[in-house]
Amino acid sequence: MKKPFVSLEQLQAITQQYPTPFHLYDEKGIRENARRLKAAFAWNPGFKEYFAVKATPTPAILKLLREEDCGVDCSSLTELMLSDKCGFSGSEIMFSSNETPAEEFELAARLGATINLDDFTHIDFLRETLGYIPETISCRFNPGGVFQLGESKEGFQVMDTPGDSKYGFTRPQLFEGFNKLKDLGAKRFGIHAFLASNTISNDYYPALAGILFQLAVDLQKETGCKVAFINLSGGVGIPYRPDQPENDIAVIGDGVRKQFEEILVPAGMGDVSIFTELGRFMLGPYGCLVTKAVHFKHTYKEYVGVDACAANLMRPAMYGAYHHITVMGKEDRPSDHVYDVVGSLCENNDKFAVDRPLPEIELGDLLVIHDAGAHGFSMGYNYNGKLRSAEVLLREDGSTRLIRRAETPEDYFSTMVFD
Ligand SMILES: *Cc1c(COP(=O)(O)O)cnc(C)c1O
Repeated sequence: MKKPFVSLEQLQAITQQYPTPFHLYDEKGIRENARRLKAAFAWNPGFKEYFAVKATPTPAILKLLREEDCGVDCSSLTELMLSDKCGFSGSEIMFSSNETPAEEFELAARLGATINLDDFTHIDFLRETLGYIPETISCRFNPGGVFQLGESKEGFQVMDTPGDSKYGFTRPQLFEGFNKLKDLGAKRFGIHAFLASNTISNDYYPALAGILFQLAVDLQKETGCKVAFINLSGGVGIPYRPDQPENDIAVIGDGVRKQFEEILVPAGMGDVSIFTELGRFMLGPYGCLVTKAVHFKHTYKEYVGVDACAANLMRPAMYGAYHHITVMGKEDRPSDHVYDVVGSLCENNDKFAVDRPLPEIELGDLLVIHDAGAHGFSMGYNYNGKLRSAEVLLREDGSTRLIRRAETPEDYFSTMVFD
């Protein structure tokens, strides 16, 4: 059973102040989860989580994570500017971009961010752009092929195809790249890889760590470059469906430690720092989209129209992704009705749920769409002239704070040229 982090009574009070739809975040949940991650990797003195800004680019959220010792992982000019405005600087910023424009490398260097290169050709591009190669530099690795883990009757626990992904250096490019970077003045090296997204498995990070740790040993031995950090990137997932198990970050941290002790320590590389760039895992479950049932339609199917739409949460429309829905105040009633829960876009994929068993919904019921804290608001857009919703933080003391106002028609018109 998935339970909302907010009660019906709380939500009724909140909707008096902020009209639906809006995104609501759970400060307590965010902080506790960040502390669990930190504890799971406490065995590694240099450990740092660089929150993937693209998941939830909201100042109050970034500042809250900074208080929990997180840095930020940026991949665009405005994400770098946002991080700067939120007080992040120097080694608190990772810059993992691809197809990077020159001005983004310039700003990353000016902020002292750690630059994580996506491609061999970016070495020359970076040197031409900056006039030098930073002493600390990272490269993204792509092993190619297929990455799979944990075969069972139901299939693989984790399966993805790095060979089809546009990111990263090949293994030979990485060796050549390290040598080249060293010749150009780099002194501290990092490696990074992102092999699978939204993994529900305590084995993903340890398996990735095994690959990267062995690669780091080989690289340091062959090139003489000092590997200072290994970045496991994002990809630790969350259970969007109520029947999925949860990842246990303590088990994951311990699994990475075992690889560390088996591979890096015997190679004399026990001083390597472990970095992560989690987005979904940090915020996904601690944010929800709050919306209201505003229409019913009985045609070939039973539709419930809500006041949010795919412009507020794109994952169901874009990937057919499942997001659990709770009809507030009816948690204990049987799910004996079957609905399509739909938004108002003139796009037939604007459906938060299709053929979803739910308790009987009445007009005005508040619906909580779960797990919208990451890649939720941030993927919003203005299609059909829809305006982005507000974001509200539910604080630890039960009070609320508006952390982003809703867009107004004036915002929508502000970039248009009328004459
Ligand atoms: C998107 C992204 C992440 C975060 O991914 P999650 O699935 O949210 O954990 C981390 N690093 C990079 C480079 C990314 O592009």
